Amino acid sequence: MNNIIPTPDSLPDANPAQADFNQLPLSPAMLSNLQQLEYLTMTPIQAASLPITLAGHDLIAQAKTGSGKTAAYALTLLNNLNPRHFAVQALVLCPTRELAEQVTQEIRRLARFADNIKILALCGGTPLRPQAASLDHGVHVVVGTPGRLMDHLSRHTLQLDALHTLVLDEADRMLDMGFYDDIASVARQCPTGRQTLLFSATYPSGIARLAQQFLRNPQEVKLLEQH
Ligand code: ADP
Ligand code: MG
Repeated sequence: MNNIIPTPDSLPDANPAQADFNQLPLSPAMLSNLQQLEYLTMTPIQAASLPITLAGHDLIAQAKTGSGKTAAYALTLLNNLNPRHFAVQALVLCPTRELAEQVTQEIRRLARFADNIKILALCGGTPLRPQAASLDHGVHVVVGTPGRLMDHLSRHTLQLDALHTLVLDEADRMLDMGFYDDIASVARQCPTGRQTLLFSATYPSGIARLAQQFLRNPQEVKLLEQH
């Protein structure tokens, strides 16, 4: 006789408020670091996007400020990373120096599960030469503003041939600031097999154009009402 009582497996997905990082295919070291940081449950944008990005898909994610977008892409790029290979494997583009520095701090905290992951901020307002020297010593993750990244690319002090993950953070703000051409130029210098993640609080037409040019079959996640 068929069992007509629904089993837990046949019920809809768990309440996203209870979404636990342990559900994700992350290493035990990464999970234990998240626990130490008191990241106990995923925010809605993390719960919606991490299963997609950890499976290797490109992503367009729209969610408001303060929703935890940084960790959503940081966990993905760290998961793609080989700490034993000292080459730039992930690049995050941010609109301003202040944001790039905040993102750098957040990725450093999330990267504490491993001993030796180097994360460097590359922004204007600081001399190029010490930045070039830091790059020369071996860096895994670069977080920067488009103008300064272009400076390093044109001087060949930044190499992107080992890149696995490209992140466009606050893409709408970068477009407002007139960075379309710089973003396009950086993206064209990244390997074609990379994973590309685009985060934005709003969805102006330039974002669709950017996505069409530089993302491959992206999945879309939009959380307009979420905090
Ligand atoms: P956004 O980029 O969407 O504006 P942030 O990535 O800056 O948001 O995150 C906002 C704040 O939430 C940060 O202080 C971050 O450390 C914190 N945070 C992010 N995810 C979690 C989580 N799962 N649990 C607890 N705090 C979190
Ligand atoms: Mg952010």
